[in-house]
Amino acid sequence: MQLVFASNNKNKIKEIQLLLPQSIEILSLEDIGCFEEIPETADTIEGNAILKVNYVTENYGYNCFADDTGLEVDALNGEPGVYSARYAGEKKDANENMDKLLDNLNDKSNKSAQFKTVIALNIDGIQKLFTGIIKGTIIDQKIGTNGFGYDPIFIADGYDKTCAELTLEEKSVISHRGLAVKQLIDFLGR
Ligand code: IMP
Repeated sequence: MQLVFASNNKNKIKEIQLLLPQSIEILSLEDIGCFEEIPETADTIEGNAILKVNYVTENYGYNCFADDTGLEVDALNGEPGVYSARYAGEKKDANENMDKLLDNLNDKSNKSAQFKTVIALNIDGIQKLFTGIIKGTIIDQKIGTNGFGYDPIFIADGYDKTCAELTLEEKSVISHRGLAVKQLIDFLGR
């Protein structure tokens, strides 16, 4: 079976292909000739994953899955959420995003937050959603140089280091993305 992953991120595609049974062939957007920018205009993480997967199925006719991820901060009513990549502007600069978040959280006592990944899957006329969450706390300064995005200011529950101080292997054990992918793989492997 061919299944499109609505992404052109070669690393993510390779990673998932390795985890799936050989009977499932993952195709990228490039593989199906989809070069246009897919709209990501929803105001929730779920909504964007659904927009992306429906775009591919409706316009190209393939079974498909799409992911969307964001950091949701309780004291900011779930911000930056769906705007995580471009919180401080279209430059999508991780440092500026963290600075803006630290600024907005400055006067708040509740620093709880969670990373959330949603994968939407369209397969043979049905739609399924898989969600992976890691809960944690935002600290008030950046620590560590590994990882990406908001990793230097996020400490997962049960840990005493930021995600940017963890190795890739350590981070993958608690990864929100990994948790959502595992559910997808369990579903497809049945
Ligand atoms: P995407 O949907 O995977 O592109 O993620 C959107 C944005 O969320 C990224 O640009 C990052 O700012 C943030 N993000 C996603 N996953 C992580 C993570 O594992 N650590 C830190 N930030 C992340």
